Formats: sequence, C-alpha cells, structure tokens
Amino acid sequence: METRRFGPMDDKVPVIGQGTWQISDRAGAREALDRGIRLGLTHIDTAEVYEGSEETIAPVIRDRRDEVFLVSKVRPGNASYKGTLAACTRSLERLGTDHLDVYLLHWPSQHPIEDTMRAMGELIDDGKIRAAGVSNFSVEDMEAAIEGLGKNRLVCNQVIYHLEERGVEVEVLPFCRDKGIALVGYSPFGSGRFPSSGSAGRKALDGIGKRHGKTARQVALRFLTREAPLFAIPKAEKVRHVEDNAGGQGFTLDAEDLERIDEVFPVPEHVVGVPTI
Ligand code: NAP
Repeated sequence: METRRFGPMDDKVPVIGQGTWQISDRAGAREALDRGIRLGLTHIDTAEVYEGSEETIAPVIRDRRDEVFLVSKVRPGNASYKGTLAACTRSLERLGTDHLDVYLLHWPSQHPIEDTMRAMGELIDDGKIRAAGVSNFSVEDMEAAIEGLGKNRLVCNQVIYHLEERGVEVEVLPFCRDKGIALVGYSPFGSGRFPSSGSAGRKALDGIGKRHGKTARQVALRFLTREAPLFAIPKAEKVRHVEDNAGGQGFTLDAEDLERIDEVFPVPEHVVGVPTI
C-alpha cells in the first residue's frame, strides 16, 4: 500500500483509507474494515455524529490498535472548551481505545475556534489525541485554527473532493500544500453519485482504466490521491468494495490521462469558501 507523511506527523499513512459514515450493516462493515486493514487501508475515519460508527469500529481495532491510524471528530455544537474534552472522552470510550491519532473539528462551529483548539492542545498534552485537525474549513478558517493551536501544528483538513467537485483545488489544496497540511478528501465517489455508465465522464474513466487494468473507481481514487498532500477515504461497508478500493493506488496516471480527466471533470474557476456535502 502506498503511504505518505500525514501533514507534519512522522507517520506514513496509506493514501487510501476507510470511511464509516451511514453504516447500515454493522457486521458487514466490521468484516469490510477488517479486510481493509489486512490490505493496508489502516486509516479509519469516524465521528461522534456517525451514529453507531465508533461502536462498530471498536471490536475491529481491539487487538491491533497500533496498526491503525484512527481519526474521529467532535460535533461542532459540542466544541466549546469543556465540551470538546468531554466529547473526546466519550469517543474514546465508544472506540475502546485510550487515544486517537487525530481529532478533528467536524465543521466550523459557533464556539470560538481558540476555545476548541485550546481543548485540542490539552488533549494532546494528556495523550488522548496525538494531533489536531479540522474538516470543511476554508483557508480563512484554517488560518484561525492554526493561530488557535499555538505551538501545536494543524495536521489536516478533511474536505469534500471527488471528480465532479474539484473546488478545493482552487484555494484549499494550494494552501495545504504550502503549509504542509494533509488534505483528506471525503466522499471520493460523490457519496454514491459516481458518474453513471454511459456518461461522458464514465466513458473517460473506463477508457483510462482499460489502459492500466483498473476499474473506473480505482482511476478516480488514483487521481484524488495523485500527489502529496492528498489522501482519500471511501466508505467501507462491503468487502468487495474495500478490495476494489485498495487497488486505487500503486500505478501512475500519465499526462494524457490527467488531461482527459481535466477535460471531462473541469476545476471550477471560482469558489467561495469551501464546498461541502
Ligand atoms: P463515498 O465513499 O464517496 O461513496 C459511498 C458510496 O459508494 C456508497 O454507496 C458505497 O456503497 C459506494 N462504494 C464504495 N466503494 C465502492 C466500490 N468500490 N464500488 C462501488 N461502490 C462503492 O461517500 P461517503 O461515505 O459520503 O464518503 C466517504 C467517507 O468520508 C465517509 O464514510 C466518512 O467517513 C467521510 N465523510 C466525511 C464528511 C465530513 O464532513 N468530514 C462528510 C461525508 C463523508 P455501499 O454503501 O454499498 O458500500
């Protein structure tokens, strides 16, 4: 599995991870997550707002916590100073672990960012989280989070990024690249709205895939993780999907492939703030 440094952390994290939003079959998801970890998809993404997700993950990681790069998120409504500390403790209990690798603020909150980030700093000092990140943050929001974190580094921004939503390439990606912040793309398949068979986009992906011996989704994942500081976290609820997604790395898209992708899935010219789901 291809890995890269996760922002300023020393960890080598797989470019493709596993998402756990909207799990409907917990037993199936456990099987899929287990298979994914064995295939090297050890970055597992969850959140307190993903009902039942943290509990679903707990038994999968129980005897191999050190193999997994575990990320959870505080609900913005809980993100006061004290609320963040309490929410993290609850997530750790549900996950059956004593620490998270990264803890994120799920989206900008009505609570002052400096309070949330101060709590993140305390969680780092207490060993409950190894690092702090954010999600759905614009460049301006990231700048405020960086200031609020003080001596601690902001390690990632988790944002929507798929072929039909390339808005983060306008401002967020250049900022992350410049500052050494990991950009974790969520909903890499458009949250279930992947280009349908017969569409121009799908034909292009199928064509590129054919040349590399890859599926259309594997081509999409390769594009979305084509260079640092990009990572992707497709949903992991079915073993066959996880196996397919694990093949979305380990090959290189050439200039012709990239040009074709730009042609059928153009980057928007202007984006205000950050796109969200
Ligand atoms: P996604 O991964 O883009 O798409 C999920 C859909 O694709 C599901 O219908 C899934 O089917 C299907 N799928 C996955 N792999 C497939 C494959 N190889 N072949 C065919 N179908 C496949 O959507 P997402 O769940 O919205 O995003 C991924 C993760 O990002 C989430 O699980 C969550 O961890 C994170 N996320 C974060 C935020 C945020 O605000 N930070 C927001 C949204 C998502 P099945 O359901 O049948 O497996």
